[in-house]
Amino acid sequence: MKLLVVEDEPELGRLLRTALERAGFAVDLAPRLREARGFLAVAGYDAAVLDLSLPDGDGLSLLATLRRAGAGLPVLILTARDSPEDRVHGLNAGADDYLVKPFHLPELVARIRALLRRPSAALGLTLTLGNLALDTASRQVLVGGQTLPLSPREVSVLELLLRHQGQVALRASLEERLYGMDREFTPNALEVLIHRLRRRLQEAGASPLIHTIRGVGYLMALPA
Ligand code: CA
Repeated sequence: MKLLVVEDEPELGRLLRTALERAGFAVDLAPRLREARGFLAVAGYDAAVLDLSLPDGDGLSLLATLRRAGAGLPVLILTARDSPEDRVHGLNAGADDYLVKPFHLPELVARIRALLRRPSAALGLTLTLGNLALDTASRQVLVGGQTLPLSPREVSVLELLLRHQGQVALRASLEERLYGMDREFTPNALEVLIHRLRRRLQEAGASPLIHTIRGVGYLMALPA
């Protein structure tokens, strides 16, 4: 799951990125509207976190661009403005949720997950295939009812594969959603991740298989 975070305070931006990456999200951090528009022109996102007071304008002016980028893209507004009028204004302008600074990072993570579970953004609370289940709320993975401990990034790639089950998940789209575009990642990072996940699933006795479609992507399906 990939997030666009628009925040101009460097310290807060770093904290947000670290907390969200630890929670298993890929993060693109834009310090201004200008960079945010640039990112939106070339990348897809699952949700956006938007500061309102930015050096080159009001964060709300980005909402229209965000709406064009993805019809159901959830937007959480982050702001020091806390008057009821500001909240109403933000929500009327199309934001899905509102968090007033200062806030607790775990609350931000919980709210983003809640937004991503909405019907427009998600297929359901629990994604299942064969004896494999992923609870998108708790991030818990079960194989035949037994918990399988996985790293946040392994859970994220599994979630993407499960959401595409029966179809090929394109390599470029997986990479884009797993790794922020301004973060270095080695060319075979995705292969290594999938290889590890495949082994973990196999060892745990999961019935679905991850097929490699050479040069294209990955397909998760039950054995024929
Ligand atoms: Ca600001």
